[in-house]
Amino acid sequence: MNDPIHTGTQAVWGGEEKSWMQGATQVPVVHSVSFGYTDMDEWLQVANGERPGHIYGRNTNPTVQAFEEKVRLLEGADAATSAATGMGIISSTLFALLRAKDRVVSIKDTYGGTSKLFFEFLPRFNVDAVLCDTEDHEAIETEIAKGCRLVYLETPTNPTIKILDLERLAGAAKKAGAIVVVDNTFATPINQNPLQLGADLVLHSATKFLGGHADALGGVICGNRDLVKKIYHFREINGATLHPMAAYLLLRGMKTLHLRVARQNESALDIARFLWEHPAVGRVYYPGLETHDNYDIACRQMRGFGGMLSFELKENTLDAAKRFLPRLKYAHAAANLGAVETIVGMPATTSHVECTAQERAAMGIPEGLIRYSTGIEDPRDLIADLKQALAGM
Ligand SMILES: *Cc1c(COP(=O)(O)O)cnc(C)c1O
Repeated sequence: MNDPIHTGTQAVWGGEEKSWMQGATQVPVVHSVSFGYTDMDEWLQVANGERPGHIYGRNTNPTVQAFEEKVRLLEGADAATSAATGMGIISSTLFALLRAKDRVVSIKDTYGGTSKLFFEFLPRFNVDAVLCDTEDHEAIETEIAKGCRLVYLETPTNPTIKILDLERLAGAAKKAGAIVVVDNTFATPINQNPLQLGADLVLHSATKFLGGHADALGGVICGNRDLVKKIYHFREINGATLHPMAAYLLLRGMKTLHLRVARQNESALDIARFLWEHPAVGRVYYPGLETHDNYDIACRQMRGFGGMLSFELKENTLDAAKRFLPRLKYAHAAANLGAVETIVGMPATTSHVECTAQERAAMGIPEGLIRYSTGIEDPRDLIADLKQALAGM
């Protein structure tokens, strides 16, 4: 009957209508912790989930719900729930869906905090995580075929921007009867929708591109209704609830998600090409370059290659990176990504700070690697800035 509306319109309007009040055109920030009732039967029905409404802020909140609804629509999912941070939703998901003696198949390049869950916390509950070489699809399929409860994927990866074939791996997981979870933080729903490629659940650190302004933490997961319900139930009990003020900031940021990501896609490709040709630069990691190992997979499953790239200086050492970063004028050297401002960092001081140099080397992360999160500045100024910073390196 109705044509599906386009992503840009969904980013602006999606999920908001139900929360408007008294003619306000914006979603209100509802700070109230509890929600009162004069009719005790109505209260009981809401409490039992038999009718919509709110009881207590640790469980649900109208501003938080509007945020979840917007992400749900952008990912084309049946259901969504959120948490205070990306790690809040990732840990809630794993602890809600896994039991003792379960096996998880994942990759070596998951986000640092996620790999901590795999290495340090899940084994305490007798959950075994097998972490495969990220680009060895056959090895991942072999591990999946041995049987597992959950397959946990991330693409593009941090910080070497590797690409996984989601359709292929989700197919292997389906055959093994495993749940497929994808961290879509780097791609955003503008560039990639894992649910359409066979995933059961897609999650985001909303702190990054979704919010886009580096001023609010949040996490969100969307997908299969029964699975989301289990994750919500665990999160309401562990208490890692998204704050309504953060939900509002994330919601406001998402209204420009499509514009920001379109600019970041374009600028990052220009910058990757510029770096590729620069004599002071070694390897450049960006899936939009034809030289990327999995360029063909990226072309098939992504609508844009994203704002994240990384590169090595010719002098590929931590010392050289330390000299280079402060020379950049239009880039915060900080442990974050996905914001309107360009952000740079070294895995050795940001995402992989907990690892030793040897561990980073074993993961294929060069000591001098520089991660570049492209902002929405004019790309001509970003390239000029890189050019002056690279001069004499
Ligand atoms: C930052 C990040 C996370 C964790 O999110 P927080 O909001 O910092 O808890 C998870 N996955 C990826 C890919 C990230 O970049």
